Amino acid sequence: MMKVTLLGTGTSQGVPVVGCQCDVCQSADPRDKRLRTSAFVEVDGVHLLIDTGPDLRQQLLRERITDVDAVLLTHEHKDHLAGLDDIRPIYFRRKRPMDIYGMQRVLNVVRKDYDYAFKEHPYPGAPSFQLHPIRHESFFVGNVEIQPVQVRHLTLPILGYRIGKFAYITDASFVADSEMALLDGVEVLVVNALHHEKHYSHFNLEQALQFVEKVGPQRAFLTHSSHHMGLYADVEKTLPPHVTLGYDGLQFTIDK
Ligand SMILES: [Zn+2]
Ligand SMILES: [Zn+2]
Ligand SMILES: [Zn+2]
Repeated sequence: MMKVTLLGTGTSQGVPVVGCQCDVCQSADPRDKRLRTSAFVEVDGVHLLIDTGPDLRQQLLRERITDVDAVLLTHEHKDHLAGLDDIRPIYFRRKRPMDIYGMQRVLNVVRKDYDYAFKEHPYPGAPSFQLHPIRHESFFVGNVEIQPVQVRHLTLPILGYRIGKFAYITDASFVADSEMALLDGVEVLVVNALHHEKHYSHFNLEQALQFVEKVGPQRAFLTHSSHHMGLYADVEKTLPPHVTLGYDGLQFTIDK
């Protein structure tokens, strides 16, 4: 059994947007509050954190997450990376470098932005990271096999991840047909849906729903949404029955 928790489901500025007076940003519905996009996957005793955005500390506390075996990075944008230092309490407790998987380009940014963690004699409070560059080939964390799925974010190649019958894709604006075979047999899909208007670097709702149709999962959850998506309660009513607008803290299980 695999358990997935959506830690955050908001686009880069989060929802509410600082200073915004719109209905969504002023909504009292907790499902209209979106921290930056991230997810936590528990499978076969392995704990995987997908992305470490700027809200990571709050997300780990909210979900009472005590253990992370590996971080899987989708890409280097700050809304997916800027909270990496907040993994420190878990590193301190485990006393071994945190394994981080991502494309070489993304890991280069980790090395630059968190240079203090890579010093020969780091400051005692610094975290320690073990970087694992990945490309197209699947890899293992413990006995869990993970298949990277390459998608495009405007022109930037970035990664989604498939674990068993589950696939997680965020910040995609295009998925090549050549990658679709990697999504064969996916039963539960998380995919990004920004809002209703067309956008240069993210699927809008219509494109996300088309992508869901193409993959053909039994259930799909939308993530990385902006305040322009509308109120959760309104949007949810318009979606096909097997598609749910994701919200922070949403959990689901998958029979691998
Ligand atoms: Zn993003
Ligand atoms: Zn707003
Ligand atoms: Zn991005």
